[in-house]
Amino acid sequence: MTSPHLFDLHPAQWPQWFETLGFPSFQGRNAARWVFQKGAKSWQEMTDLPASLRQQLEIKAPLQQTRLVHQSEAADGACKVLLALADGATVEAVGMPGTDGRTICLSTQVGCPVRCRFCASGMEGLARNLSQGEILEQALWLQRSQGAFQRVVVMGMGEAGFNLPAVLGALDVLLDAEGFGISARRITLSTVGPKGAIPAIGAWGRPIHLAISVHAADDELRHQLIPGVKHRSLVETLDEAEALFEANGREYTVEYVLLAGVNDGPEHAQALASVLYQRRCHVNLIPFNAVPELPYACPAPMVQEEFAKRLRSGGLSVTLRRSLGGASDAACGQLRRRNLAPDHPHNV
Ligand code: SAH
Repeated sequence: MTSPHLFDLHPAQWPQWFETLGFPSFQGRNAARWVFQKGAKSWQEMTDLPASLRQQLEIKAPLQQTRLVHQSEAADGACKVLLALADGATVEAVGMPGTDGRTICLSTQVGCPVRCRFCASGMEGLARNLSQGEILEQALWLQRSQGAFQRVVVMGMGEAGFNLPAVLGALDVLLDAEGFGISARRITLSTVGPKGAIPAIGAWGRPIHLAISVHAADDELRHQLIPGVKHRSLVETLDEAEALFEANGREYTVEYVLLAGVNDGPEHAQALASVLYQRRCHVNLIPFNAVPELPYACPAPMVQEEFAKRLRSGGLSVTLRRSLGGASDAACGQLRRRNLAPDHPHNV
């Protein structure tokens, strides 16, 4: 077996990795600074490493596992990168400007096993999990093309809850001062809450922000919309999120995609308000963003407003995501639509 890829390791392990390959270990710390703080994308750029060392590194240890195949930038500053992985699979990541800095949106799997009926990501099922390094390289490519970012949302392709070792490993590097140094309160992980996932995030212990994809208060409808969690009840999932709140004091977000005629009626709002009553969450309503192959539609603005109003009169804190429209939506495709509203509490 060859040694693990550099980005699958925490920067604190880089010196040892250098040593294993026969290089001076202190240069490992140096290289980590070059990559995470100075945005170097090749060994050659690390000019204070001896030229002979750089040459050997180039031969023995390719710095990247991914290749940038496409990059598009929209007029509003949103940027999408499409990366090719070593096995030829591709994955997208998006960077978006916000009121106080940039947010990046990362993918965790190629495809998705959850098969939410209204989501394009799971239409072909799961191809495979991304490795820690493949998740981090999305952040690195976005940083190289767009500069530093201040927020991370794990809301791209895939279900993080089914790939937690790699996802939490990548988050450790995003959080660490030797890595990207992002604060925990500026990281949001979105999940449908597979069995064991939320408690595992609690046991990991970093106080990141959790977003739970709910989409229906009634379990029967929720299971139709999110087949991947059909053995779990919503209350059980919300109770796990509450337990996390008790442990780290971080309120969580409930995500609810509004689908015309499916989950957007007064009775649905009523049911949601009662299941969330006195829970420590904020509701983020996401108007459905059309996927051409799928038979769903976005409710009219008035219906959306009415839904939000009912939740508010049930005592909930609610954000209704404005429709973004325009060039960047087209440019950033599937991932772009999962952007958070600029006035969302995540973006404080
Ligand atoms: N697997 C994670 C991340 C998914 S993306 C999860 O399910 O939470 C983040 C959010 O975008 C999820 O709430 C997801 O349901 C939602 N989403 C997916 N497809 C959408 C669409 N076509 N329109 C609006 N929101 C969508």
